[in-house]
Amino acid sequence: MPNNIIENFGCEVFNDHVMKKMLAPDVYEELHKTIDAGTPLDPAIANQIAEAMKEWAIERGATHFTHWFQPLTGVTAEKHDSFLCGEDGGKPILKFHGKELIKGESDASSFPSGGLRATFEARGYTAWDPTSYAFIKNETLYIPTAFCSYSGEALDTKTPLLRSMEAVSRSAVRILKLFGHETKRVIATCGPEQEYFLIDRRMYAARKDLIFTGRTLFGAKPPKGQELEDHYYGMLRTRIQSFMRDLDVELWKVGVMAKTEHNEVAPSQHELAPIFTTANIASDHNQLTMELLRKVAHKHGFKCLLHEKPFEGINGSGKHDNWSLSTAEGVNLFEPGSTPAENMQFLLFLSAVIKGVYEYQDLIRISVASAGNDHRLGANEAPPAIISIFLGDELTEILDAICEERRYFGSKRTDMQIGVDVLPKFLKDTTDRNRTSPFAFTGNKFEFRSPGSSQSIAVPTTVLNTIVADELDRFYAELEGAENFESAVHDLIRKTILENKNIIFNGDGYSKEWVEEAERRGLHNLPTTPDALIHYCDKPNVELFERQGVYSRAEMESRYVIKIENYCKIIKIEALTMIEMTKKDILPAVSTYVRKMAEAVSCARSIADVECGFEEDMIKNLTSLSTGMYKKMRSLEELVASAPETEDQRLADYYKETIIPAMARLRTVGDEIESLVGEKYWPYPTYGRMLFAV
Ligand code: ADP
Ligand code: MG
Repeated sequence: MPNNIIENFGCEVFNDHVMKKMLAPDVYEELHKTIDAGTPLDPAIANQIAEAMKEWAIERGATHFTHWFQPLTGVTAEKHDSFLCGEDGGKPILKFHGKELIKGESDASSFPSGGLRATFEARGYTAWDPTSYAFIKNETLYIPTAFCSYSGEALDTKTPLLRSMEAVSRSAVRILKLFGHETKRVIATCGPEQEYFLIDRRMYAARKDLIFTGRTLFGAKPPKGQELEDHYYGMLRTRIQSFMRDLDVELWKVGVMAKTEHNEVAPSQHELAPIFTTANIASDHNQLTMELLRKVAHKHGFKCLLHEKPFEGINGSGKHDNWSLSTAEGVNLFEPGSTPAENMQFLLFLSAVIKGVYEYQDLIRISVASAGNDHRLGANEAPPAIISIFLGDELTEILDAICEERRYFGSKRTDMQIGVDVLPKFLKDTTDRNRTSPFAFTGNKFEFRSPGSSQSIAVPTTVLNTIVADELDRFYAELEGAENFESAVHDLIRKTILENKNIIFNGDGYSKEWVEEAERRGLHNLPTTPDALIHYCDKPNVELFERQGVYSRAEMESRYVIKIENYCKIIKIEALTMIEMTKKDILPAVSTYVRKMAEAVSCARSIADVECGFEEDMIKNLTSLSTGMYKKMRSLEELVASAPETEDQRLADYYKETIIPAMARLRTVGDEIESLVGEKYWPYPTYGRMLFAV
């Protein structure tokens, strides 16, 4: 039934529509106060909401509920309980109390806490986040929750995101008031575009590297890669099309507004973009999207790869975090206005972003740092590790005009109107979209393109919200008592642009020249995760987050420890996987193949005096290469064994400087061998088969 998908949109969500229907009017109103203004919920009301949720969930076939949270493992966690609380003459009694809805206990000791456990409590709890709707999946009522230690330290990605949304709202509301613009709340919005690969599940199952690490650690270049660019927006094959259709059905049921789906540049790579929504919901929805991508792929005989770089020599996958701020009434604060006064407000918010990104480049870089993403950033397919802002020619010219105190006459499309001082009226940027910038202004929002495909958008969004909140606070302090508000705003914008314009770059972010130019400008270039992480707890960064009430110092230190450990563990698993593949599969395969060749030679020679050039060459080349590979594997083994016995920055640096290059050397010879060995003898599906066979 073609219309089912439309009828079923949100059918598994306890959304506003359902709440209105199921809750008494006063309860509904109280709950809305909590959702809209963050006021604490009366426990009596919580009982009524829980009861309504349970009724609704049971009606839809659910028997269990779970607090759903996002610990620092990078994947979501859940602990299921049934509604069952006894029986009455053989009939089950099903209950769900307000306190079960609001708070759940969880043993925090099985989740990473980066030392917080030692300092604080071992127990953790999950707290209902009423700003993100509960939903049903697999006969279970999912309740989005924040995850904290008993002493209130955040152990997840949601808590800091919610705190940062509060911070930016508080700061922006005050600034808007100065412009005579009253609003209760300012909301951070996100629309994350998600890239992923789909490969045949049987091929996935035949590759240890994909199974253990999510990416291929060996793989010779196929004759065809992405050079023809014939995949981008290409026609969707039937099998993919039916996968996407099914995915949309599942996403729509849980209220995820999946909007566009298309093929990406690399073969077998695809992208999904939702319609933007509140940052918190967008982040929950992106987690759900990743889960459903995996689940629906499985159903269709695919494996969905969310790793940032599954295949060498082929573009990796990112997640563009489109980000903006809007008022509770839905006015987008990064939409250039139609009057000079509106533009003054727009330019002030823009200045806050420019200044924030310039001052906290390292934090922005750190927010996307992971072992997987290190393969992408700066690899001529994704933005460089150097953070800069793309504004487009028109906006840049307007800012230049302001700095130089001259009038802006703009492009032909521009409707000129000199109002307040030199602030013009201008239309949306008309220049080509720049795809090489990590952080681009795209007309009425920013597109942060560095996040990796498997990452939570909560982390980079938390940084964006916080830096902007902080800059707006400083602006407020300067503007609050100004005698002439308009000229004070103008001067502030001018000063801010003059002091921070080094971060603006409209050119080719992939070019070598930019790396040199960025160095001249004094911008950070932190190419790897260990290079970036070391700055995480720098004084200005800790002070920023503490000032804005987003992370405490202890929370930051614990996150630093978790990130470092995670990096080390990933590289170690990759190295051990390579060793195992070499020892157990690749070298034995070479041996078998060489033996076949040798048998062929002696067999042929027993019949006639023939040349056997191919076989002899193969035997010589392959035995020499396999000896080389064996030595490289042994050397990698020794290097892994002699790693420092700590799990700190020193170990991360060691993995970066010593293990990764040794892995690369092993791979080079492995790939050369692969290109020589008969395909029938090779133990793994090749790049060509994985990427083009779907
Ligand atoms: P493209 O980048 O392919 O040109 P769009 O610019 O239309 O596509 O949108 C890309 C993503 O940005 C979508 O997920 C969209 O919902 C999101 N987006 C659009 N406006 C905003 C906004 N104000 N805040 C956050 N995200 C937004
Ligand atoms: Mg985009």
